[in-house]
Amino acid sequence: MLLPNLPFSREFIKHLHITTVKSNISGDNFTIIELSGSRFKIHKDVKSIREDAIFFGKYKNENLFFIENDSLFEEDSFNIISEKIDEESRGVAGIARSFSIWHSENIYCGKCGGSLLFSNKETAKVCSKCSFTVYPRLNPAVIVGVKKGPEILLTRKREWQRNRYGVVAGFIEYGESAEEAVNREVFEETGIEINNLKYITTQFWPFPYQIMIGFLADYSAGELKVDRCELEEAGWFHKDHLPGLPPATSISRFLIDTLIDRL
Ligand SMILES: [Zn+2]
Repeated sequence: MLLPNLPFSREFIKHLHITTVKSNISGDNFTIIELSGSRFKIHKDVKSIREDAIFFGKYKNENLFFIENDSLFEEDSFNIISEKIDEESRGVAGIARSFSIWHSENIYCGKCGGSLLFSNKETAKVCSKCSFTVYPRLNPAVIVGVKKGPEILLTRKREWQRNRYGVVAGFIEYGESAEEAVNREVFEETGIEINNLKYITTQFWPFPYQIMIGFLADYSAGELKVDRCELEEAGWFHKDHLPGLPPATSISRFLIDTLIDRL
């Protein structure tokens, strides 16, 4: 199988290194990613940098910085998962989004309460008092497309837009393998048991910082029993009569399309 071309790839950023120390940065080509929630705006060829801008790597010859701007207007920006955004912008903005959230959540050391400062050596923060190192966080999650004959198991969360369905997904819990997490999540959310589990691909997902590990599987046993705490609805959908699906930029959609190809 060909590797999928899923967005939020790291390939557009070279020399990933997050820092506020401007003297460490060579060159004077600046690109600023202005962030507000899931919206962003890219400013290229900027000649001066705001004091609170944070350097996070290089793209081609450009020094990349991000800043937060709560007053970023809807009409000035575009959603990070929009299918209209080019791959490079999405990749760069996705990393900026994750770094910005991690930065805002790690101001003080969890061990001693000292101030955390960006490391000069690696992509991390170091405590100014006890030298404890804090790395950018990455939460592992599983996501799985399940089929039964010509039908696909799809689920819907309350907060999703109307008529939007996706596949089962959830975080890996402490002590679990990815395979155990897939079996548990499908059973907990839908009452369905699966077999023939096959790994397909992964995707970095910057909302806020997940690594999504994607699988396909077959139905093996059980009746649908929807976990109403987690889901609004779940059901088997015939491949010729599918509801609204996630955007092509998501691993959820990639798994659904791959499943349909194999039916
Ligand atoms: Zn400390």
